[in-house]
Amino acid sequence: MLPRPPCAGIHNGRVNSGKVAVVTGASSGIGEACVRVLAAQGYTVHAGARRIDRLESIAAETGAVAHFLDVTDQESVDAFCSSLPRVDVLVNNAGGAKGLAPVTEANLDHWRWMWETNVLGTLRMTKALIPGLIASGDGLIVTITSIAALSPYDNGSGYTSAKHAEAVLHRTLRGELLGKPVRLTEVAPGAVETEFSLVRFDGDADRSDAVYRGMEPLVAQDIADIVGFVASRPPHVNIDQIVVKPRDQAEAGRVNRAT
Ligand code: NAP
Repeated sequence: MLPRPPCAGIHNGRVNSGKVAVVTGASSGIGEACVRVLAAQGYTVHAGARRIDRLESIAAETGAVAHFLDVTDQESVDAFCSSLPRVDVLVNNAGGAKGLAPVTEANLDHWRWMWETNVLGTLRMTKALIPGLIASGDGLIVTITSIAALSPYDNGSGYTSAKHAEAVLHRTLRGELLGKPVRLTEVAPGAVETEFSLVRFDGDADRSDAVYRGMEPLVAQDIADIVGFVASRPPHVNIDQIVVKPRDQAEAGRVNRAT
């Protein structure tokens, strides 16, 4: 029998389980949707990202706690993690892509951004929170990788290599934490319409819109629903990996578009 988390009850009209979930990259897209789903499930959600104004309005609506968090900065990660009362769920979501270029024209700044955010950001957060997740008695780490973590695609090597590395870090923990009370789930989405492509193409809305034109992509809520399902399984059930794509997408570069 696990100890009951402290502070379970009703707070501000919301049923609170007393459990704490951390979501990185919570200011938009998949992270924001995960905050909403986990808060509705009764978690106290600590939501981290750099755009604190956005986080504060999400927090006001959901009861989450907004934190400035830059996963590429160790001091920021340490300040965030040391402020947590406890941790039951970690959603490693902060990340994204910059640019599309063949290896011969690779932009080293883009590669650095992608590796710092997706790979080292996930490493920093996970390393800092593993002791608390073990101490919770039923910890869960969900890492949002990508179908880019499963196979490379032309012009995407900066992102595909970073997502492969992030996924291998996550999958390695499945073995290293065996015997400890921590579950690990990798969610690998295909195309989800968020700010992802806007960030990838440096704010170029036409280029970003073209990614989803003529097809029906996933939306952030589709991924958050999966995270909520995973988090609501009993402690002995570990869903190792979920690959989820739009019906219109067979592979990263193979999409059905209405003409
Ligand atoms: P998004 O709307 O651009 O969200 C990315 C989030 O990451 C934002 O909240 C952003 O917040 C945060 N972030 C970026 N750099 C950060 C940093 N240094 N420190 C803290 N937070 C940071 O895109 P999304 O689609 O929801 O992406 C979420 C995750 O899903 C990413 O890991 C992405 O690689 C993955 N994914 C996306 C897709 C897709 O098609 N959209 C497919 C597969 C996987 P701030 O800018 O406010 O910090």
